[in-house]
Amino acid sequence: MNLQAIVDEITATLRPQAGQQGQVASYIPALARVRADRFGIALRTFDGLEAAAGDSDVPFSIQSVSKLFSLTLGLQLIGESMWDRIGREPSGNPFNSLVQLEREEGKPRNPFINAGSIAVADRLISQGRTEIDLVAMLSDLAGAPIDIDEEVAASEAATGFRNVALANFMKSFGQIDNEVAAVLRLYFGQCSIRMNCRQLARAAGYLCRDGAHPGGGAAVVSERQARRVNALMLTCGTYDMAGEFAYLIGLPCKSGVGGGIVAVVPDRLTLCVWSPALDVSGNSWLGMRALEMFVARTGLSVF
Ligand code: GLN
Repeated sequence: MNLQAIVDEITATLRPQAGQQGQVASYIPALARVRADRFGIALRTFDGLEAAAGDSDVPFSIQSVSKLFSLTLGLQLIGESMWDRIGREPSGNPFNSLVQLEREEGKPRNPFINAGSIAVADRLISQGRTEIDLVAMLSDLAGAPIDIDEEVAASEAATGFRNVALANFMKSFGQIDNEVAAVLRLYFGQCSIRMNCRQLARAAGYLCRDGAHPGGGAAVVSERQARRVNALMLTCGTYDMAGEFAYLIGLPCKSGVGGGIVAVVPDRLTLCVWSPALDVSGNSWLGMRALEMFVARTGLSVF
C-alpha cells in the first residue's frame, strides 16, 4: 500500500474544502486568528515509515489531544488506581459540561472530557509532576523539542471560567486533592502545547506498538495499558460524537478544539489530521472527513 500516495490524494481532494464548513474556535484570540484554510495530515507506521502532506509541519494548539498524553503519564505513575476517581464511560455530553458531575458526585465520566482531564492533572500534581513533565514526555516521544504557547496558556487561564467551575465543583465533592490553582495551571498548560501533525503522529506511536516507545526507548506503557487507552479513545475520545466516529471511521481517535485529531490503527500506524474549522461538537470537520477517506482508501479500521 502506497501510504504517501494516499495522503497526497486525501490532501488534493480535501484541502480545497478547508474552512468551507465549520467554525474555527473563537473563545481566545490566539485560536480565532488561525487560518481556516489549513489542512495537514501525517502518519507513521509501527516500524517507523512516515508519510505526510499539506500543512503537516505547521504547529497548532493541541488542546484536548493533550488529554491522551496526560492520561498516559498518569498511567505510568499510578497505574490502575487512576480509576479510583475517574470513570471509563462515554459522557454523551459536551466536553465542558457540568451537569453530569453533580448527579455523579464529582466523579468525571472519563479522562477525555475536561472534568476528567482536570482530575488526571490533580493526580499528576500529587505525584510531583507539572506541565513541564508533560512537555518533556512529548519531546521525548516526538524526538523533537516541544513547547507551550504562552499566549494561549495565558488566555486559557484568563477565560477558562468553566474549567475553574469544574475544578472547584469536583473539589467540593472531595475529588481533588491539590490546590485548584495548581491543578488548573497544569491543565491550561497542557491545552496550550503546540505541535504539528508529524510530531503528533510520532508521539502517539506507542499506541500502535503495544506500548513500545516510537523511537526505541523504554516502554511507554504496557501492552494491556495501550490496548485500554485505545479503547477509551474509541468510546470517549471525541466527546458526544464518539458514536458517530466509531460508525463512520472505526478507529480510536482523540480530538482537540485546535482542530487536531490523532487516530490509531492498532498494530499498524498512527495518524494525525489537522484542520482548524470545527463542527458543533468541537471536532475538526475536515479532519473527520479526512479520516473517513483514509479508512475508505486503505480498509484500515478496527472493525
Ligand atoms: N482548552 C479547551 C478547554 O479546556 C480544550 C477543549 C477541547 O479541546 N475540547 O475547554
